[in-house]
Amino acid sequence: MHERSLHEHAEALRKGEYTCTELTHHFLDRIRKHSDLNALITLTEELALEQAIRADERLARNEAEPLTGIPLVHKDLFCTRGVLTTCGSRILENFVSPYDATVVRQLNQAGMVTLGKTNMDEFAMGSSNENSYFGPVANPWDRKRVPGGSSGGSAAVVAARLAPVATGTDTGGSIRQPAAFCGLTGIKPSYGRISRFGMIAFASSLDQGGVLANTAHDAAAVLASMSGFDERDSTSLSNTVPDYLAILQKPLRGMKAGLPKEFFSAGVDPDIQKAIEEAVKVLEHLGVRVVEINLPNCNASIPCYYVLAPAEASSNLARFDGVRYGYRTTNYTDLSDMYETTRTEGFGAEVKRRIMIGTYVLSSGYFDAYYVKAQKLRRLIAQDYLQAFEQCDIIVGPTTPTTAFHIGEKSDDPVKMYLNDIFTSSVNLAGLPGLSVPAGFDRNGLPIGLQIIGKYLDESSLLNVGHQFQQHTDWHAHIPRDLT
Ligand code: GLN
Repeated sequence: MHERSLHEHAEALRKGEYTCTELTHHFLDRIRKHSDLNALITLTEELALEQAIRADERLARNEAEPLTGIPLVHKDLFCTRGVLTTCGSRILENFVSPYDATVVRQLNQAGMVTLGKTNMDEFAMGSSNENSYFGPVANPWDRKRVPGGSSGGSAAVVAARLAPVATGTDTGGSIRQPAAFCGLTGIKPSYGRISRFGMIAFASSLDQGGVLANTAHDAAAVLASMSGFDERDSTSLSNTVPDYLAILQKPLRGMKAGLPKEFFSAGVDPDIQKAIEEAVKVLEHLGVRVVEINLPNCNASIPCYYVLAPAEASSNLARFDGVRYGYRTTNYTDLSDMYETTRTEGFGAEVKRRIMIGTYVLSSGYFDAYYVKAQKLRRLIAQDYLQAFEQCDIIVGPTTPTTAFHIGEKSDDPVKMYLNDIFTSSVNLAGLPGLSVPAGFDRNGLPIGLQIIGKYLDESSLLNVGHQFQQHTDWHAHIPRDLT
């Protein structure tokens, strides 16, 4: 049952082949059976079964929407009413949210069933899921390896077929990179497309919610339900959301794809390089014309991102002070000692590192030298993309420079870890949509991701290309051996 796609489940539910309650039990059992992956922080069994009953009633009344009765999991930084929402941190270890994030509310209204909340890097800071207070997540393709981060739990769940689909967030690559490492389709839409209300903030000008799924078709359906204007998020856009599903079938003939010279340089694993070249051939076969483009400032995206993201994080995380919610130390003398000790005990090493970097680059003596310079660089990176998109409709390249690495391999070298974001972070800096689709396996049998970057607000072309690519390849259909 679990190997079916979201659309196959929707069809089976409508036909009455099985009920949503049966489907929910099936996935809950699978989650328990594969708990060694450590992919979930909270299992919401009671909520799931309650939602399943309501979905079955809706189906029986013929009032079902396309997603009614489909189980999913949420990354544990989406606030869920009455349910633990930890953000992967000790400081929110006991935080039960009093309200739902807009994304959660929208998907609940569509009739989806929440199975649980997924493990993640603390405050979404990381590329390997090793920064979680709740321990690392295992990659279902090789349990000694990382699933990618920071949406690593969501990716492991979908890859292991413990749920058909999951939500995630992407600040510098956290949907696309775990999608690549786990053989999934992951989309980060344009900044402003999806409400950030109730999504615990890391870097507010970069954060964006999105979807991890097995196919572009499945991702399109969920993205459609998550998108749209929200008056509670001042950066949310009022533009109409296109019919993502209708666009999937469009032939690609006449489309132009740009290959950035900078994304095919040394430093990319040769197996990945080869897989991307093969993928480009498939696109050419489908009628896509390929042109070479330049993104000259994108090689500076890592230093730019790692100034701006920590700066915003240091401000956003000031609210975790032990006073209003979350963890409070029991061991303090006065108010200021309470703040300090709470934060010392409540945050992990990477979060502290980011707060210190962020506070430093925002301090009056260094503001111009670091923060202002990084803002200027951000503009140049965005302009690179604008210019490139005068010559092409989409940009394609690798999602990551390597496939999934071993747990512990990079965890004591932050800079090495940051370099994983080399192909993804510039997309967030420019606010553009990005998609990763499976494009092969390396010599160790580990999945490889093809990244497709779109013009601002053009998620449609990405999903269209992803879907057409998946009609002519079967990389997305593979399931890790011991999980079939
Ligand atoms: N790896 C990046 C970081 O550590 C991106 C994380 C993300 O997209 N949430 O900040």
